[in-house]
Amino acid sequence: MASASKTRKTATRLLTAVAVLSGLVLSAAQANAATASLPGEAPAAAATALPVVNMEATVLAAQIDPRRADSTQTPGAHDSVLAVEQALQARGLLDARWVDGYFGTTTVSAYAAYQRSLGFTGLDANGLPGTTSLTSLGQGRFTLTRQIGVGAKLKRDGYTVNTRTQNMLLEAERLSGVHIKLDQGSYNPGGDPTSAGTHDGGGVVDINVDGMTSATRTAVAKALRQVGFAAWVRSPSQGNWPWHIHAAAINDTDLATQAQNQTGDYYLGLNGLANHGADDGPRVAIQTWEEYQRTH
Ligand SMILES: [Zn+2]
Repeated sequence: MASASKTRKTATRLLTAVAVLSGLVLSAAQANAATASLPGEAPAAAATALPVVNMEATVLAAQIDPRRADSTQTPGAHDSVLAVEQALQARGLLDARWVDGYFGTTTVSAYAAYQRSLGFTGLDANGLPGTTSLTSLGQGRFTLTRQIGVGAKLKRDGYTVNTRTQNMLLEAERLSGVHIKLDQGSYNPGGDPTSAGTHDGGGVVDINVDGMTSATRTAVAKALRQVGFAAWVRSPSQGNWPWHIHAAAINDTDLATQAQNQTGDYYLGLNGLANHGADDGPRVAIQTWEEYQRTH
């Protein structure tokens, strides 16, 4: 939280500096006004007029849109996704026909290619926009609002999670009144083979439900959903695993691809398993951790 706020403050200072500078260079810009900018290129002196990209909406679209059977766009994401796609197109990474405000698999691939072009590998090139890559892509093209930060990694019950996930778990504990003990953490590549790679990145945990009644398991899953996890109670009949709760934090920018698919499926009413079954969890209004925090 502190670093995000610091980033915002820095961004505000930068904007102020740019505003002052653009005032100073206004006459120079006016002198150059006769020089038409190239199509798709932002005019040099228009820093305050750059489009604003909502990072939360963009990252959400990048999880849901690739899972859709149709071309429905994620509500509230169109303008932001379009600005990102235009920037990818300008860099020769995305064909014009995919520049439409829909963050489908082709846009995810193009975004991953952009991340690799910055020298990123692994999770940092997962096709989900993170703050560093998105800020870089937006240079001279767009500014960012509603930035997401996952924070530093830490240990919980001996397992690695990031700070955002830890804060979400603490709030779910408070809401449910149940102590949450992990069985598996995040950033665990090559871990439990039954997890199909979902725990390779950030935002994903398994919760131990030993000794919990069915009602308590459901109550914990509900609390996890309320704070922004795609969470399901998993039974031994569904896979080669004991009873547990699998939870993936929506909009965690470190999500592994398989976990991105699960958070997208969750929005589309599915169970996040390979069988594409219907969501069998407790119904809550789906929201992200950041949305939850704004309303509580
Ligand atoms: Zn799991």
